[in-house]
Amino acid sequence: VAEPGLHRQIVQDWLEFRAANPNGAVDINCCENDTAGLCICEKCLAWDVADPGQDFDNRVRQSHDNFAALPTNDFRWDPGLGSLSDRYARFYLAVQDLAREHDPDAIVMGYAYGNYRKPPVETKLNENIILGYVPGVRFPAAPDELQERREEWQGWSDAGARLLLRPNYFLYGHNMPYIFAEQFGREFSFCARNGMVGTDFDSLTAMWATQGPNLYMLGRLHATPESDPQAVLAEYYGGFGPAAEEVRAYFDYWAEQSKSIVPRLDGGWHEYVPIMHELWTQEMFAEGARLLASATEAAEGAGVFAERVEFLRLGLEHARLTAEVSRVFAEASGPGGVAQQFSAIARLNEFRKGLEDTNVANLVLLPWLEKRYWEVWPTEELEGREVISRLPMDWKLRWDPEEVGREQRWFDAGLDATDWADVRVDSAWEKQPVGAAWREANGKDFDGLAFYRVSFEAPEALRGRKVFLLFGAVDEGAAVWVNGEPVGEHPFVNPDDWTTPFAMEFTDVARFGETNTVVVEVSDRSGAGGVWKPVLLIAE
Ligand SMILES: [Zn+2]
Repeated sequence: VAEPGLHRQIVQDWLEFRAANPNGAVDINCCENDTAGLCICEKCLAWDVADPGQDFDNRVRQSHDNFAALPTNDFRWDPGLGSLSDRYARFYLAVQDLAREHDPDAIVMGYAYGNYRKPPVETKLNENIILGYVPGVRFPAAPDELQERREEWQGWSDAGARLLLRPNYFLYGHNMPYIFAEQFGREFSFCARNGMVGTDFDSLTAMWATQGPNLYMLGRLHATPESDPQAVLAEYYGGFGPAAEEVRAYFDYWAEQSKSIVPRLDGGWHEYVPIMHELWTQEMFAEGARLLASATEAAEGAGVFAERVEFLRLGLEHARLTAEVSRVFAEASGPGGVAQQFSAIARLNEFRKGLEDTNVANLVLLPWLEKRYWEVWPTEELEGREVISRLPMDWKLRWDPEEVGREQRWFDAGLDATDWADVRVDSAWEKQPVGAAWREANGKDFDGLAFYRVSFEAPEALRGRKVFLLFGAVDEGAAVWVNGEPVGEHPFVNPDDWTTPFAMEFTDVARFGETNTVVVEVSDRSGAGGVWKPVLLIAE
């Protein structure tokens, strides 16, 4: 960011944009997206100012040592570099200086974010620099953290910039009862009283029934920033009429629980899914339900107030069921565990169907987050069918670059495949040792035909029922044999065929009470390839 060529390019892009959009926005965008300051070029380092307590002259080596000590795949390079706020403040000023040659009123937009969130030590800004302040931690926060945020805000304001509040608070918590309304209200009020010219909340998740007080505080304070947060909460609870006090007690309970729950989560905002049940326990849900039952009683027969309490109850039950799925996924293991997982998801999906016309929760965001951790396959293939088991995850693979596998009957049940390579069915072959070995030997990834095979048990108890193999996905096309007999093909026809589940019946060739063999000829013409999701045994 200290490179003059970058400043010239930003201003040139801005001039071109203005010429093409005479009525468009006139501010200059200097916001880096989603990263800390990382550069260690001479020019950038020369713009830094020592951070108190930092070994300033050795900061690059310090950062390098920190980085070397990290586990792989964790690319945090910045701890050790110290605060880079003066560097970024100078960057905003440098761009502004160039822009002023064209427009004396040019406005530069930037961030106070990551390792340049603390106020600059010596660089002074001006009111035509508007910064989005992104607080470093989430709510609930300890008193010293709250104080630190206030000092950071005040410091940037004292340095002369105008400020936007641009937090990510509302991304956290999934659909759980996660309440931080009062703390948030106090912080918002502080910013409003101390030079806030705007806000940018791009992370609203709309979990109205479980996080209502947070969202009400946000909306109300945007309309009347001078309102006292306690009065805002009283107004919100007043919306429950005769149940106001009971609803307050209910949310106070969750606000108190949130104080201990949230600090236990070290990870990012989407990392709640696999551990929700540990943070929001079934005991807490039981206590929440008990408190809400008092509200239901108080609002009984009171029309809209009773409906609103019922809205909260649906949110709580939805949260409880969601946490229950996360528990089942964490605890149910082995081939039989998958049946428990699917039925837990089926219960949740059934409940969600009833929420579709409500604002209880965001039913688009939730599955999008959950499918990173849960196998949430479309239910059509499972309609009226039962998940019996998951086939093994470790299969055998043989490349077929000459396309002779069918002719040489590599699908035969009795074939000895002990010299075939190992492969798993939870990711494409390119991401596995077998794919890396091909790449090493041939200078590129394998595209073409490959045969997968594995053995599995079909329980005697299934005799008389229709049995199927449900493939999570095969990239791109598949032909399938069971016990040496063809049972179907799933060719690559539509653009998303490589990612959709499909089922194949094998009732006529099944060996109940015995070992069965499945062989898949995978056809991959470009990009990633393979059986990349698990395969289930299901029965009708
Ligand atoms: Zn640099």
